[in-house]
Formats: sequence, C-alpha cells, structure tokens
Amino acid sequence: LPTGPLEADIVFRDGLIEAIAAPDESSQADEVVEAQGCLVFPGFIDPHVHTRDPGQTEKEDFAHATRAAAAGGITTILEMPNALPPLDTAEMFNDRAAHHLANAFVDFGLWGLSLGSENISQIPKLIATGVVGIKLFWGYAFDRATKRLVYNLDDISPDELVPPATNGEVLEVCRAVAASGGLLAAHCEDRTIIEACQRGLAGAISDYEDLLLARPPEAEAASVAVGVELSRATGCRFHVLHMSSLESVDLLAKAQQQGLQVTGETCPHYLSFTADDYAQLGALLKIYPPVRRARDRERLWSAIEAGVITSVGSDHAPHTLAEKRVPLHSQPAGAVGVETLAPVLVDAMLKGRLQPHHLARVLSEGTARLYRLYPQKGSLLPGTDADVTLVDLAATTVVDNATLHSKNPLSLWHGLTLAGSVRATVIRGRVVYQDGELKGSASGRLVQPHPVASRTNDA
Ligand SMILES: [Zn+2]
Repeated sequence: LPTGPLEADIVFRDGLIEAIAAPDESSQADEVVEAQGCLVFPGFIDPHVHTRDPGQTEKEDFAHATRAAAAGGITTILEMPNALPPLDTAEMFNDRAAHHLANAFVDFGLWGLSLGSENISQIPKLIATGVVGIKLFWGYAFDRATKRLVYNLDDISPDELVPPATNGEVLEVCRAVAASGGLLAAHCEDRTIIEACQRGLAGAISDYEDLLLARPPEAEAASVAVGVELSRATGCRFHVLHMSSLESVDLLAKAQQQGLQVTGETCPHYLSFTADDYAQLGALLKIYPPVRRARDRERLWSAIEAGVITSVGSDHAPHTLAEKRVPLHSQPAGAVGVETLAPVLVDAMLKGRLQPHHLARVLSEGTARLYRLYPQKGSLLPGTDADVTLVDLAATTVVDNATLHSKNPLSLWHGLTLAGSVRATVIRGRVVYQDGELKGSASGRLVQPHPVASRTNDA
C-alpha cells in the first residue's frame, strides 16, 4: 500500500478487490492463493512494449509477448503503435484491439502514433477513441507507403518518406494533444546532433565507444529541453520515454520544480548496465538511446527514489536471433525485456536499491496514474480490478533464454541469478501464472484511460 506493507488477506469477488481483511478472516473463500512469505503488489504494468504484431511477427507476436508478460508478473501491457500498419488513425483502433484480444494473455492498452503534421487531424480522434498516449518517434522518418520506421534516410528517396517531424510540427502536435487532454510521449534523441556526431567519426561504428560518441547525452538532453519548452508553451503533458542520461534527468527535475507537467520513464537496462558491460554482452547491448556510464545509472536510481521518474518500462523490442547475432554497426537496436522487467527491479529491491513502495510506484501506481488507468489499475482499492503480483522474497530467479516465453529470447540478463521470484500473477481475480506455470487461456481485456475530468485531476 502507499502507506507501506501490511499483513493482510486480500479478498477478491467477481474479478474485483472486495476488501483488505485481517489475516485468515476470509478462510472460507472458494479459492485461496497462498501468499505466505510474499509481498503482494498491485499488478505490475509495463507501459512500453513493442510486440511487432501485426507486421513483423517473425520477431515477436502478441501471444508470445503477453505470455512472457504474465510469466514476469505483468498484469497489463501498453502496446506501442509502430506495428505494420501502425495505429495512426482512430479507424485503426478497434481493428487493432480486436486483433489483439484473441491472443491477449494479460490486459492491454494501445498507444497512438504521431507522424508530425502528416496525421495531426487524427490526434484528437485517437485520444477520444481511447489510446493511452500519443507516441512521437522524434527524429525518425517513416516509409510513406508502409509507415515503417526508417532509420537511415539515405536508404530511401525523399519523396517516399514522411520526413522526421520538425520542432514546429511538434509544437502543433503538443497543441493538439493539450486541447484533447492527452499525453504526448517521445523518443528523445536529436537526429541532427546524431548526424553531426556520426560525421565526426568518419567511419563505421565498430565498437561501443563509437556508438556512445554517435549518440551522445547532449542529443538526448537537447530533445528533452525542446520538449520541456513546448510543454511550457502549450500546457501539453509531455512524457520522456526511456531516459538514459544524467543531463536529461536533471532537465526533467528542474522542469518539474517549475510546476510543468513533464514526466519520465527509464528502463531496466539503464538501471542495470553500463558501457563496461559491452565487454561481456557484446552487440546485444545495442539499444537506443544507448546504455551509458555509471554516473548516468546512479542518477537514474536517485531519480526513482526522489519521484522524478515515476514509471519504469521494459522497452521490449524484440528482433530475430539472426538479426541480433551480427556485428554492432549492422545490428538493429532493441532487446526483449517484458518478462525480466519486474524480476530485475525486485532483485534491486532485495539488494537495497529501492524500497517496496518505490517499486510499487514505478511498476504499478505511478504508471497507472500517468496513463489515467488509476485506480482501476495500479491500486489495491476495493472496487478496482483484482490484479496482483505475488513476489516470493526468499526464492531466486535464474534468467535463462531457454525458459523465457518470447519468440526470440535473447536476454541481457541471461545466466544471472536474481534475488526474489514472481510466484503468481493474478488478473481480475484469475491466476494466470503460478509457480512457473502459465494457466488458463488468452482472456486479457482492453483497458482505456478514464475520461479527462479536469486538467489538474491527475497531476
Ligand atoms: Zn520503444
């Protein structure tokens, strides 16, 4: 609970939490899930998942990703919009929800995609239809025909591109999002700074230090700074995804002190690893923005403790084993992570890196509030969804690619033994995972943000 741990029974009825009761008061229940020795958290939420479905299901699909989520203690995922075709119009929303419902092992929400001025008329409609947020792949171009992300502008002729959104276009997107009471979330790395740094390298990116020089912290911070100013100018709620650098966190903290509605997310890989781990992990460590230095990692931890960062997501971004087993420069960025998100943070909690209520904030309550899913999700309040994650404090978790549930499991944590273990995952009163076994069928549901009552209600 937000007030700290409490020894109690939790009574579920018809998929909802009925009461928090004194221990053993409710022993006449039809079904009992034993939680002795566990901390019981409000069901964990992963707000940053790319299941690649539809379109690139050789990499991953919704069934595999949501089974991996359940096995990792996640009760709700928020699906990023860059499948093929992407979720860039309101008309697409119901199709996409129906497509996923058949395979959803956990509950899910859907992100909408911003293409800058290209689909700006869709932004209010997407928000009204029920996306959890609008995602801006800031600095990225899209193939006009397929709407696939284009990483290298030289690969394709300009008239076949939706070019990267300019700052002016992002201002207009902010206005549209603010007017609809939505949330704009961005990948923050300035393309032109990256291009200048890459020119300075005068050659291919052959080792990890080259990658860090090509995508420096100032590329991230410059983009965060522009986002902060556009939020200040428009009143748009602005969320910085996958924060990786000390400089960006400092900017975010300062903007929050000024009362701006700006928030941030980080990911387990930035909290676990540094560039030094490249020696061991090799090109598998290639993720954008890059995993940086120990000083960045320490700043991210302190931001979680201070409540500057209130949400941690996996950025689950699978590629095939063949795609990831090539040299650094030609490898696609991104790694699997939905199944290890909670175990990695639980391990950190048991090693004293964060308190249980901080863990509940960044994996449950803080994330649910950010996406306006609270208190239906992210709380243990009576009358809300009976979603809980049972964490066994005495057990351990051995991360092993051979037992992960993703289609192409290649984990950064493979071979590590983590303290603590997810004993059970319960969604709307149904046990979907317990003691190493997935249970039942795909009966996840779509979740949508509650309507905007007033601008300040969810601050
Ligand atoms: Zn992502």
